Amino acid sequence: MPTPALHTRFDGIAGLRAALDAREVSAVELAQSALDAIAERAELNAFLHVAPELTLAQAREADARIAAGQAGPLTGVPIAHKDVFVTRGWRTTAGSKMLAGYVSPFDATVVERLQAAGAVSLGKLNCDEFAMGSGNENSAFGPVLNPWDHRAVPGGSSGGSAAAVAAGLVPAATGTDTGGSVRQPAALCGVSGIKPTYGSVSRFGMVAFGSSLDQAGPLAASAQDLLPVLEAMAGFDERDATSHQGHAGVRETYEAAWAGQQAAGARPLAGLRIGVPAEYFGAGLAEDVARAVEAALAEFEKLGAVRVPISLPRTDLAIPAYYVIAPAEASSNLSRYDGVRYGHRAASYRDLAEMTSRSRAEGFGPEVQRRILVGTYVLSHGYYDAYYLQAQRLRRMIADDFQRAFGQCDVIMGPVTPTVAKDLGENRDDPTADWLADIYTLGVSLAGLPAMSVPCGFGQGPVNGRRPVGLQIVGNYFQEGRLLAIAQCYQQATDWHQQKPEAR
Ligand code: GLN
Repeated sequence: MPTPALHTRFDGIAGLRAALDAREVSAVELAQSALDAIAERAELNAFLHVAPELTLAQAREADARIAAGQAGPLTGVPIAHKDVFVTRGWRTTAGSKMLAGYVSPFDATVVERLQAAGAVSLGKLNCDEFAMGSGNENSAFGPVLNPWDHRAVPGGSSGGSAAAVAAGLVPAATGTDTGGSVRQPAALCGVSGIKPTYGSVSRFGMVAFGSSLDQAGPLAASAQDLLPVLEAMAGFDERDATSHQGHAGVRETYEAAWAGQQAAGARPLAGLRIGVPAEYFGAGLAEDVARAVEAALAEFEKLGAVRVPISLPRTDLAIPAYYVIAPAEASSNLSRYDGVRYGHRAASYRDLAEMTSRSRAEGFGPEVQRRILVGTYVLSHGYYDAYYLQAQRLRRMIADDFQRAFGQCDVIMGPVTPTVAKDLGENRDDPTADWLADIYTLGVSLAGLPAMSVPCGFGQGPVNGRRPVGLQIVGNYFQEGRLLAIAQCYQQATDWHQQKPEAR
């Protein structure tokens, strides 16, 4: 059995913070034990880059802050970043050979804010190349293994983030969600994750994929632990043109909802209307996943919530709409990797054009190339109206469908993924099979809504493997604090989030 990292002995981030303030443990001890655990669990391939001397320097600084009585909400808490957030000191590759060895001269806003809140960075987490994928098998640096069952994928694209939390290597990690990449790996690795409202967390310093969809969010062991991390990450940033301001903060909406729930006594969620979309429970949903989600809904009813049948009629159209818009934006965003300004440059070439095409052919993996081809095609003259414009129209209709639904309910619940984690290599010969696995997450992303995944049970892998199931909770714009309060209430009543993979 691997030695668990020290932080796993404490009761969540709040317990960890209390122990740090009481000097029961130091930030340096926590950081060192996490670094040891990461090395011991190298087979998971969750981390792409650690820099122990930088981590320990941050930990010493955290201990000094604690000693001076100036600790912040995350001071001394170990954390790690998906490798799409640029970091000074640690390499940033976005899971691509294109950026192998790249070190950014500045930190992403998310990285900067978490550091300012006192979190100690353990390094960079593996992910699908440029965050394109649903299984973390598209990383140029090899797949991440699911800590619950090493034959299974961890989910993508933030697979390293989810696996690191599930394996107990770090209490929390950052991820990004363009079409499901926080929720999906959280679900498949049995951890909690939240994608906030589009524009809540700065995209500055996040390697761009689909800019109108990209949104960062944290993964952690529980909803309670997500709160301080999201709170530190979120907020207006003038360096991101789509960053919004003027809305109540995550903590305010959380506290308002939490106070209401506490006041309601034995049925804390009394009156909460849960919309259950018929389209999320149709053909294609595996029985084991349906059963676990159904049991979770029954638990919410016990807590006082009521179910409201709703319809999101364009659920299946979210797939083609997303797989036109995201590649279109990706093809534009990735044009910067030309072997001159950034990234890999081919060793030999005859002229400028060949330098660019060879560099891109060598630097980008097959899924990224596929997306660039699709994206360039749908944006090209003659096809723009038929594909791109049409997809944008659909996007608006999908967003309107959600608004209509929120006229009938307060939150929407359903599965995150149609099945539990697939085996590694299962979709190797059929790249679009992975795209279909995004059916329950894409619509939310197109609409820019906040949504989370919380563990709600287990299904079966092919050979008795116990594989986690996630429940998706979707809220209306700027309701992320409320989602966290609702999820925390569920987690007080159940213990799915406390179960740990045996092999960890
Ligand atoms: N699976 C989706 C894709 O491959 C979503 C990825 C993401 O959210 N980054 O594009």
